[in-house]
Amino acid sequence: MAVRVDVLGVAFDNVTLDEAAARAMELLDREGPHMAATPNPEIVQCAQKDRELAAILAEADLVIPDGVGVVYAAKILGRPLKGRVAGIDFASALMGRMAETGRRLFLLGAAPGVAEEAAANLQAAHPGLVVCGTHDGYFKEDGPVARKIREARADVVFVCLGFPKQEKWIAAHGEETGARLLIGLGGSLDVFAGRVERAPERFQKLGLEWLYRLARQPSRIGRMAKLPLFLVSAAWARIRGR
Ligand code: UDP
Repeated sequence: MAVRVDVLGVAFDNVTLDEAAARAMELLDREGPHMAATPNPEIVQCAQKDRELAAILAEADLVIPDGVGVVYAAKILGRPLKGRVAGIDFASALMGRMAETGRRLFLLGAAPGVAEEAAANLQAAHPGLVVCGTHDGYFKEDGPVARKIREARADVVFVCLGFPKQEKWIAAHGEETGARLLIGLGGSLDVFAGRVERAPERFQKLGLEWLYRLARQPSRIGRMAKLPLFLVSAAWARIRGR
């Protein structure tokens, strides 16, 4: 396995979108559970304080850099990554391959009704894709949810509970689900369901998806204000030779 790139405590796989999807498909050939994570700068900052999350990410089978912030920080640290792989693009590339090979997908998370709407849209977008089940993300007991996934004979589960809940859920219950690959994908189901709009392509290409989101949802300013600090801490780490 290739050496990972450490970005402020989280080790990332240095992969393009295609390479990430190909690696995920390889994981499906082996008995699970495997875990894929899509950390953005907020998750990296969370892992600096949350030891449990940090340990889970260190054990994950695939860790892809979701967000230009991670890519900038890697560059500042002098360990450049090939580029950003947005979690949602990774999920889409993987679903394309799953549709061709008959692999089964379970959608877990978001408000009641969202996963079902996402399933309908995804099956239309990826002809042949098997969505074998759905469950909302506001459940009290974990056991019945894990059982439902097992009974659906899912190969892949998109776990969309927000961080760090989704990563901890995968670590604690992945095995019970019987799935081969579980992926933490944040708010992706809201986007797949068409409830949250993704930034237009020209913003994505410029690496300015965050700016578009901020303009649409100014309340995110508190969350985003941490991003410059993230880059500053990368610069400090470089200067100190870490
Ligand atoms: N969510 C959930 N269960 C919870 C808390 C959150 O299913 O107990 C869902 C929420 O409805 C949303 C997603 O998790 O669909 C988190 O979205 P957000 O955009 O905040 O996540 P990010 O992508 O920034 O991690």
